[in-house]
Amino acid sequence: MTAPVLRMADVTSGYRGIPAIRGVGLEVLPGEIVAILGANGAGKSTTLLTLAGVLTPLSGVVEALGQPVVGGRPHLVARRGLCLVPDSRALLHGLTLRENLAVALSRSTARSTTELALDLFPALRPKLEVRVGLLSGGEQQMLAIGRALSREAKVLLIDEMSMGLAPAVARSLAPPVRRAATETGVGVLLVEQHTDLALDIADRAVVLGHGEIRLAAPSATLRERRDLLQASYLGEADPAAIGE
Ligand code: ATP
Repeated sequence: MTAPVLRMADVTSGYRGIPAIRGVGLEVLPGEIVAILGANGAGKSTTLLTLAGVLTPLSGVVEALGQPVVGGRPHLVARRGLCLVPDSRALLHGLTLRENLAVALSRSTARSTTELALDLFPALRPKLEVRVGLLSGGEQQMLAIGRALSREAKVLLIDEMSMGLAPAVARSLAPPVRRAATETGVGVLLVEQHTDLALDIADRAVVLGHGEIRLAAPSATLRERRDLLQASYLGEADPAAIGE
């Protein structure tokens, strides 16, 4: 059986000792795309921050690339190959696109991985010398994802990929992310408010509500069973009603 690149089991985590998520379990396999869905305040970002080693869980197991994630030490898990693309995108706006890609690179990987980012997002190639602050929102998101892949990420956590983007622009990001997962084996966990986009791109989806998992199912099933998806948002779903 393939080992997951990301795993959390029965995790309770939150802020200043107060749980925001309770008993959450999920896994991401290499090359797999998993979406976390849920309404505002459901606990999506808390889940991501716990997996990235920013928050220390109150209880439960968190593992990335087969090793425990130590809360409060995100740089350790980043060194292993986990890369968080925050909703702010965390780009250096005063530098050019090329410079933003360059700061992501170690000397040994510089060439091939920049090429990978530009190959996945060819729209970035003519903009290499443009200051990032002048790029469109879509180009900035392409750069944020491309930069993470340039770091040879083995796990990508993408917070609100579609934030601030027109629906068509957000949708155009899906095929390159899928290609990266297939070609490089990177495991992707996306937090997404835009349900249709998430179900188009992800293999599986998990719906959180009030800090607990309400539903976990293959995206194909949820595309067919909108009723279950809606019920899970309303807190009416029985997680046992649908198998993975
Ligand atoms: P959104 O889509 O609005 O970002 P979310 O699903 O990502 O929502 P979280 O941000 O994980 O949800 O929030 C889960 C709960 O934790 C909410 O009740 C929220 O108020 C609380 N929370 C989030 N950040 C903090 C913080 N820094 N300090 C205290 N409580 C927080």
